[in-house]
Amino acid sequence: MAATLGPGSTVAFIGLGRMGLPMASRLAAGGYRVRGFDVSAQAREAVAALDGALAATSAAEAAAGADAVVLMLPASSHVRAVLVEDGLLDALEAPVALIDMSSSEPLETRELAQRAAARGIELVDAPVSGGVRGAVEGTLTIMAGGSDDAVEACRPLLEAIGKSVRHVGDVGAGHALKALNNMLSAVHLLASCEALAIGREFGLDPKVLVDTINVSTGRSASTERKLPEFILPATFNAGFALSLMVKDVGIAVSLGEELGIPAALAQRALAMWRQADDALGAGADHTEIARWVDAAEGASL
Ligand code: NAD
Repeated sequence: MAATLGPGSTVAFIGLGRMGLPMASRLAAGGYRVRGFDVSAQAREAVAALDGALAATSAAEAAAGADAVVLMLPASSHVRAVLVEDGLLDALEAPVALIDMSSSEPLETRELAQRAAARGIELVDAPVSGGVRGAVEGTLTIMAGGSDDAVEACRPLLEAIGKSVRHVGDVGAGHALKALNNMLSAVHLLASCEALAIGREFGLDPKVLVDTINVSTGRSASTERKLPEFILPATFNAGFALSLMVKDVGIAVSLGEELGIPAALAQRALAMWRQADDALGAGADHTEIARWVDAAEGASL
């Protein structure tokens, strides 16, 4: 395992999207030497514009000689494409910290960890919760999976990105916990939108409804943040794609199936989120689920 990753360490940051760019920016601001790579030229330009960061022309170039490689990609399939199909894992030389901060599939992560271990490299999974605003403000919760030594070596780097870094178990545990968190978040948001639709139809003022639930037992992050900030003002710009929420609930439901736990409510929620994804089309923000719920009640999309 790499030595403790303090400021001054060189970090290859792969995946500079809505979350990755602000996270890389916090590392650069914290004294890490960031070499960013993304398949999007626009994202590479954005990372090159940060103080303390450079843009690389490939993941391999970013990772060459780096102390740590951080991945912040959409899903496990992208992580596998970069590490295995494009050969990055074979090109890495221990000691190097390999940290997957994407919301990936825990069983796939375990499999990738075994491949990495065969090359003397320990994979740490460290997905995040807290959204784009949490990434910008450095207030993310980070759920780390891996050996004690590996997670402790990564801790200073993770603390430069997030506020609460929790070591939640062996490799894959972070990805399992993150999927379960988003399964709850998806169920809460859907139920909150249904409550809003019923309340409106009854004649309740939506703001009164939300404010009152937020000092009552039905409250959740959905009622406290998502309804007032993105849904009631109809901006729908939280920055977390609806398709990624579908992916996360799917990971949690599949994990349950693998383990013999059918999770009927989560299955039903997943079916509804999938229908919303089909109806709203590519690029929809996950808060647009409220529009889909309203449409199901008779409004037009
Ligand atoms: P995003 O789509 O905005 O960013 C992903 C980036 O990865 C894009 O810039 C894309 O060009 C890049 N990419 C794809 N394939 C690549 C490859 N082979 N090599 C290099 N770059 C590649 O997604 P995001 O919202 O930043 O989410 C990233 C991860 O974080 C996802 O797993 C998501 O589920 C999770 N997440 C997102 C949020 C959020 O609020 N957006 C919150 C918590 C967790």
